[in-house]
Amino acid sequence: MATIAFIGLGNMGGPMAANLVKAGHKVVAFDLVEASRNQAKADGASIAETAARAVMGAEIVVTMLPAGKHVLSVWSDIVPAMTKGALIIDSSTIDVESARQAHALAAKNGVLSVDAPVSGGTGGAKGATLTFMCGGDEKAFAAAKPVLENMGKKIVHCGGAGAGQAAKICNNMILGISMIAVSEAFALVEKLGLSHQALFDVASTSSGQCWSLTTYCPVPGPVPTSPANNDYKPGFAASLMLKDLLLAKAAARSVHASVPLGVRAASIYKSYDDAGNGGKGFSGIVEFLRHSTIEED
Ligand code: NAD
Repeated sequence: MATIAFIGLGNMGGPMAANLVKAGHKVVAFDLVEASRNQAKADGASIAETAARAVMGAEIVVTMLPAGKHVLSVWSDIVPAMTKGALIIDSSTIDVESARQAHALAAKNGVLSVDAPVSGGTGGAKGATLTFMCGGDEKAFAAAKPVLENMGKKIVHCGGAGAGQAAKICNNMILGISMIAVSEAFALVEKLGLSHQALFDVASTSSGQCWSLTTYCPVPGPVPTSPANNDYKPGFAASLMLKDLLLAKAAARSVHASVPLGVRAASIYKSYDDAGNGGKGFSGIVEFLRHSTIEED
């Protein structure tokens, strides 16, 4: 069992750190927020006074922070304090460029590094069923995998530095676009006089089948466990979907890739967020599409 420092104990990081304790590791944790530190203590972690103190002597460090600027700032502080040859894993969802800068900082300080963003949301974080998408060299990935297995059930090595972040934002670009597509279809069948169930019965076994339809169905009824049946309580918040779509748009721009539907999806989620819906589950976009007058060609 290892000594693991965990920085960033929010909605995701808190339960992930608790799962490392449950797996038998010695976890030294830090967050800026007192309530999060107290919860981690109650979950069995010991609490450090600062992030840099938390990582001293740790064999492995995990960060779970809001965005690229937080990761670069925290890593600049903690990586020089780490033991040479130790491993640092960032599981935040951040831009590919910041992820690559973070890897370079680790390499400069003789520390192994992996970017390992997740999918599976807070339920996956609590249940240790997350999917980790990893970027980094073979040696770093081999060191990270057993620890990630304590927090998730699927660990995929996607390639070198930043590859995990690239996979994550491409996956979520597919998700954002497909949720809008499914929502548009439900809004259309309502006006054409069909029931939601009729569209679901056809599309869920036809070529329109996708996760946004069959697992996260944006209208109540056909999939009883989807957030639509619970007033669109997240689940995965619309503000986080907007964040990921904007990361995908920025990544596409940086390599001159054409992603017209990804850009359109970002602008639709931006309008939804601007209207005060950022805290709702992202499948609530169906209500917005039903009532909005988004421009058409
Ligand atoms: P959160 O805001 O609940 O947690 C972030 C934590 O980081 C907070 O507790 C905050 O106090 C802490 N923090 C910020 N700056 C810090 C610093 N300098 N030092 C120490 N702690 C600091 O966010 P979350 O929902 O846990 O998400 C974390 C990351 O995971 C984000 O990048 C998010 O995009 C990604 N993610 C979230 C979900 C989800 O469903 N919530 C799903 C997949 C991925």
